[in-house]
Amino acid sequence: MHSPPRKRPGVNRSRQEQSPASLFTENATLIIHDPPLMSETSTSQPPLISIVVPVFNEEKGLQELFSRTALALERISPNFEVVCVDDGSRDDSLALLIAQHQKDPRFKAIALSRNFGHQRAVLAGLTYSRGAFIGVMDADLQDPPELFKDFHDKMEEGFDVVYAVRKNRKENRLKRSAYWMFYRLITNIADIRLPVDSGDFCLMKRQVLNEILRIPEQSLFLRGLRFWVGFRQAGFEYERAERFAGTTKYSLKRLLQLAYNGIFSFSDFPIRFLGRLGYSTIVISLMYTAFILSKKLIWGEIIEGFTTLILAIFFFGGVQLVSIRILGEYISRIYDQSRARPLFIVQEAHL
Ligand code: UDP
Ligand code: MG
Repeated sequence: MHSPPRKRPGVNRSRQEQSPASLFTENATLIIHDPPLMSETSTSQPPLISIVVPVFNEEKGLQELFSRTALALERISPNFEVVCVDDGSRDDSLALLIAQHQKDPRFKAIALSRNFGHQRAVLAGLTYSRGAFIGVMDADLQDPPELFKDFHDKMEEGFDVVYAVRKNRKENRLKRSAYWMFYRLITNIADIRLPVDSGDFCLMKRQVLNEILRIPEQSLFLRGLRFWVGFRQAGFEYERAERFAGTTKYSLKRLLQLAYNGIFSFSDFPIRFLGRLGYSTIVISLMYTAFILSKKLIWGEIIEGFTTLILAIFFFGGVQLVSIRILGEYISRIYDQSRARPLFIVQEAHL
């Protein structure tokens, strides 16, 4: 069992304090995200492959997940671990995860103290995973675990990360078009060329994960960070399956939050957009002034003041409110980052 609240580790952890996961590669000197202490991790040899699975109220599909994942990973190596993170489920998911751990200790169960959201649950699992290869997939079997074998084979061609690219989605049309628009928008405005239609489903090498874990960002957009760290990366096209059981656990609010994190963490487009808006309104108002003045000077027409005034007030009022909103978003993100709360809290860990 795991003692829950621990001091957030300082930036310069000494080598002795690091988790075993970070010790067995040369490259890990600075891991920010609260890795488990030595006493809390399993003492067995690190596995070849770790798969992180965030779980939130998924009791109906878990048995299928366990059997399909075990079977699929056996095809790569029997030396695997599946790090399941219970993200504050209110159903029997945690009990099922613990039962599975007792049956097959290669399945680990980590319980967060409440619901922290998908991205943070994945991050929690990543800090606990000890494999040389680390994968991420959803618990609802929309990401087929059988593909890890293909990812692993592809990595043998010399890649450090293989991420899945969704060829098509089996979700409703509204959600599909929202995703479609978001990925095109972010690809166009982001400072780096984020791959289109790729989620968190991937397999990466330990070195890549260690670099991701060094990033102390509060607003998580893991698929962006995974791309941002660089290394040799390849996309792998697949058809995204339907949920095996249950309904989506991502509320619209959470989905929008994720989209916001992607946009604000990977692009300064919103702030540049304000500048452009400002310049354009100045140009338009100057042109309009010239037009009105010429009407008066050349044709001697009387200027209709009231309507123009009201329109201008409304227009600039709107522009200013939107601008304050965008600035506010940056300020709240700075505030969030400066508070530096831990991104997740582990209540118990069955390792
Ligand atoms: N999930 C989670 N915490 C949450 C919401 C979702 O751990 O607050 C998990 C969920 O159990 C699933 C994965 O994240 O394994 C993806 O969620 P979901 O399938 O509901 O999202 P969708 O595929 O509909 O976008
Ligand atoms: Mg899903």
